Amino acid sequence: MHSIWETRQFHRTPDVAVIGAGIVGLFTALFYKRKFPHHHVVVLERGPFPSGASVKNAGFACFGSPSELLADEDQEGTDAMLARVENRWKGLLELRAELGDAAIGFEATGGHEIYPAHDPLYTRVADRFDRLNMALRSITGQETFHWDDMAIGLSGLQGIEHLVRTDLEGPLDTGMLMATLLRKALAEGVLVRSGAHVTHMEESSAHVAIQLKDGARIQAGRVVVCTNGYTPALLADLPVTPARGQVLLTAPITGLRLKGTFHYDEGFYYFRDHGGGVLLGGGRNLDVAGETTAEEGTTPKIQEALEKLLSEVILPDTDFTIAQRWSGIMGMGPSRSPIIERRSERIVAAVRLGGMGVAIGIRVAREAAALAE
Ligand SMILES: Cc1cc2nc3c(=O)[nH]c(=O)nc-3n(C[C@H](O)[C@H](O)[C@H](O)COP(=O)(O)OP(=O)(O)OC[C@H]3O[C@@H](n4cnc5c(N)ncnc54)[C@H](O)[C@@H]3O)c2cc1C
Repeated sequence: MHSIWETRQFHRTPDVAVIGAGIVGLFTALFYKRKFPHHHVVVLERGPFPSGASVKNAGFACFGSPSELLADEDQEGTDAMLARVENRWKGLLELRAELGDAAIGFEATGGHEIYPAHDPLYTRVADRFDRLNMALRSITGQETFHWDDMAIGLSGLQGIEHLVRTDLEGPLDTGMLMATLLRKALAEGVLVRSGAHVTHMEESSAHVAIQLKDGARIQAGRVVVCTNGYTPALLADLPVTPARGQVLLTAPITGLRLKGTFHYDEGFYYFRDHGGGVLLGGGRNLDVAGETTAEEGTTPKIQEALEKLLSEVILPDTDFTIAQRWSGIMGMGPSRSPIIERRSERIVAAVRLGGMGVAIGIRVAREAAALAE
């Protein structure tokens, strides 16, 4: 029994319901609302706040390390690799322009890939380094990567022989980014309904009936599904697989020299400085089957591997304590490209962001909002 006020303001039939308040869902709702200010746009989020990868990630504002880009080139060809870099590069620029560097805590402290002694990856990258840099110039307009082995000692890393740096990447504050985006979406008239766990959708010629876990039912003109790694529960036929990523953060370390973002071991590990400590994630390759899950949690096997990397490579001869551990769920699949498509007359999907949602989320959302028109 809603009052007239509730009916008019909060329980109006939404023109568009976006499922999932991650970076993609919130930007999708924001862009759609900007184009159609008189439409009622609601984001349905199962958690009390955004609860997916967008608030669990490592906060790398990056477009791909040299080894990753060269592996992509081998797999898909030069044009496809460059198109992907361009999308990420433009996405980062758009994100920073839309929300502002200060509001997302972006620090231009650089991105790095490091190679231990005798790493065959180094030879593979070194052989094709100049050609890669030349090709990337057409996108970034400048020299993208440069060798900077001198920085290894300055960062305090041990057992590392070579380092590639780009000045065009850096860490950001994931929490600030998402809080800023949420505030912006609300300020521009998007309604966010938290605790709204969608269990089922049924499309008719007139609307999409959305069933919530708490028993409530909503009818929406259109639906955009932005549930990333949780998509199988709603759209089971889409090729999306949940992939858990585990992270830890050390307590602040006196005299920490590490600055910027770092990729290690073909990108299986990634670390950065944060709040005077080190944030480190990865190790999924140690237990791919176990980490193919939408359940949050950490495991001793992966956490121990992360701690070993800390003590042997990142923080040698340094006492550290772990302040926090967490995990997040990514959406992966047979291709590294996201799925942005109209599923039916009234349902659009914008999912499977992989490990690059910070960079591409805003552009995925722009496309999704256009498809929902
Ligand atoms: C550990 C980790 C580290 C990462 N590091 C980086 C990084 O450094 N840089 C980078 O670019 N990317 C990184 N990523 C990837 C990036 O975080 C994701 O690609 C991006 O956040 C995906 O955004 P999204 O909006 O698609 O999904 P999500 O942020 O996962 O949002 C989906 C939302 O949908 C909600 N939801 C799910 N099911 C339902 C339902 N049935 N009903 C209602 N709501 C629902 C969820 O609660 C969630 O809030 C990382 C990911 C992880 C897990």
